[in-house]
Amino acid sequence: MTPSCPSCQAPFTPGAETCERCGASLLVAPAPGGAEPVCAVHPEWRSVATCPRCGAFACARCLRQGPEGAICVTCHEREPLGQLPWDQRDELGTLKAFWRTCYGMLMRPTETLRGVNPDAPVSSSMTFVLLSAIAGFLTTGLLYTAIVGIVLGLVPQTDTSGTDPEALKRWMTVGMGAGTVLIPLFSTGMTLVNAGLDHLILRMGGVERGFSVTMRAHALSQAPYIVGVIPFVAVYAAPFWAVGLRAFTYRTLHRTSWGTALAGAFLVPVLSCCLCGGFYGALMFAAFKSGLGTQG
Ligand SMILES: [Zn+2]
Ligand SMILES: [Zn+2]
Ligand SMILES: [Zn+2]
Repeated sequence: MTPSCPSCQAPFTPGAETCERCGASLLVAPAPGGAEPVCAVHPEWRSVATCPRCGAFACARCLRQGPEGAICVTCHEREPLGQLPWDQRDELGTLKAFWRTCYGMLMRPTETLRGVNPDAPVSSSMTFVLLSAIAGFLTTGLLYTAIVGIVLGLVPQTDTSGTDPEALKRWMTVGMGAGTVLIPLFSTGMTLVNAGLDHLILRMGGVERGFSVTMRAHALSQAPYIVGVIPFVAVYAAPFWAVGLRAFTYRTLHRTSWGTALAGAFLVPVLSCCLCGGFYGALMFAAFKSGLGTQG
């Protein structure tokens, strides 16, 4: 929340002590006997903002620019602006920044997210998602392709009747290869949809920050997919790890309660599992019934 001038309500930049629009001092004495909150450090001045980190009332003299907006000077000194490696892509290079961010998110998520800007352009988060999807699926996908290629190579020529075995082999390999490229793209698109649904739930839980914050938290929670460079592991283990980590990133970047963060992270995956499970169950039931029908 941006602080505003007590005289004219124009928003001002933390650090200023006079209003840029009306020229009035931002340090205003509270009305005698008034109920307005006063600064926690300077009770002689009216509070113009509450610190989003510690909740303290602050006067204009006590406000500083933090990564998430205006914060109090105490919090500003305690935790100076942190930098996520991902936000230092220009200096580090994209791949190094990606690797360091993933490593940090897996090994010490609390320290990695301390003091970082909770907000980032959606495009920056989407790039991160795409890279983790590629890391997660590419190696496994390539390995599957290679295995299928080898297995098909071992099939004796005489086995097939009518179809051209060479063409079949070629198409299977092309199909697997295309899948390897398309799955990361598809899963990146799905991430956008899922983050949107999560954001709706987080909003219901009372978070005030925008979708780009949810998107960033969701993107960072995809870091476990980096484990995908070890073939097969990521495809099965990473989704669970990512959902758990997501509750943590939602809580940290949105500064919300565990309850809201957990709901935001788990509700959509659980619901979609139930839906898919229900659909699958109905399908099985229908198949079973029709099986009975043909037998009887
Ligand atoms: Zn003003
Ligand atoms: Zn504070
Ligand atoms: Zn103050």
